[in-house]
Amino acid sequence: MPDGSRELLLSRIQDVPDYPKPGVMFKDITPLLADGKAFSVLTDALTEICREQDAQKVVGLEARGFILGAPVAVRAGIGFVPVRKAGKLPGGTLGQAYDLEYGTAEIEIHADALQPGDRVLVIDDVLATGGTAEASVQLIRRAGGTVTGLAVLLELGFLAGRTRVERALDGAPLAAL
Ligand code: AMP
Repeated sequence: MPDGSRELLLSRIQDVPDYPKPGVMFKDITPLLADGKAFSVLTDALTEICREQDAQKVVGLEARGFILGAPVAVRAGIGFVPVRKAGKLPGGTLGQAYDLEYGTAEIEIHADALQPGDRVLVIDDVLATGGTAEASVQLIRRAGGTVTGLAVLLELGFLAGRTRVERALDGAPLAAL
């Protein structure tokens, strides 16, 4: 990234204490999205990763992974595929359940969204516990894709999501800008 990009991006992420529940420091990226320069710098950096990995599809994770991933797909000239929370996709789907702090969640992808061997870059805004990213990697593989890497804007290091996701990525890179 050009000099000063990291600082620009960090300055446009707002910490919101105790949201959505007490004890959570929510990283709000809406100020970054509202700043055309910062959004463009972020999109450029993610597109660079996409090109380096020679990805053929961008998979964005609901919901902010859609906002970050779609312009990257357009700039790279490749397709975009959404991974959604269960029950939102209209076609035939594959699902992957994963554990939350309390209970479980499930994500889905259209079963025919990827061609066998498609090289896929996964994009999301924040890596926290890594549960969502880990499940997404497993889901994409089951859908026939080859995960070239995972790229996020921000990683919450104290939650150790990286360890979990790197295990799932099996050598593919995890980039946190
Ligand atoms: P996890 O599965 O714990 O890694 O959580 C990742 C998902 O939850 C991402 O899609 C993030 O958008 C969201 N998320 C988790 N923690 C935060 C946080 N502190 N601030 C903003 N988004 C978060």
